[in-house]
Amino acid sequence: MAEETIFSKIIRHEIPADIVFQDDKVTAFRDISPQAPTHILIIPNKLIPTVNHVTEQDEQLLGHMVIVAANIAKQEGIDESGYRLIMNCNKDAGQEVFHIHMHLIGGKNLGRLIG
Ligand code: 5GP
Repeated sequence: MAEETIFSKIIRHEIPADIVFQDDKVTAFRDISPQAPTHILIIPNKLIPTVNHVTEQDEQLLGHMVIVAANIAKQEGIDESGYRLIMNCNKDAGQEVFHIHMHLIGGKNLGRLIG
């Protein structure tokens, strides 16, 4: 069994977070340490520790996360200017919270992806 993280508490509304969207499959909330004017995390309500743990059963769930991200980008008014979706996996990517999450980042020119 994977260990719960702080994100499980956010999903259950046990600790405060600026939740911008929630349904039975996913929760989206503003990052506590935003790297751009819009920085929102989209997470599955089900605990999946890393992208390595995603299975074929999660196909719909992951697709739903992307659709939710695109809808939120529109709400934030950055769908046309552009944004970046990032999922970090393990140490070299700097994953800090072991409950998969998609960063939705935008609202400024983000420059090159690496370096
Ligand atoms: P990672 O590096 O794992 O891809 O990203 C984890 C993200 O979660 C970081 O951007 C960090 O600022 C954010 N984060 C960590 N703890 C909390 C929290 O308690 N609340 C919110 N809203 N964001 C958090």
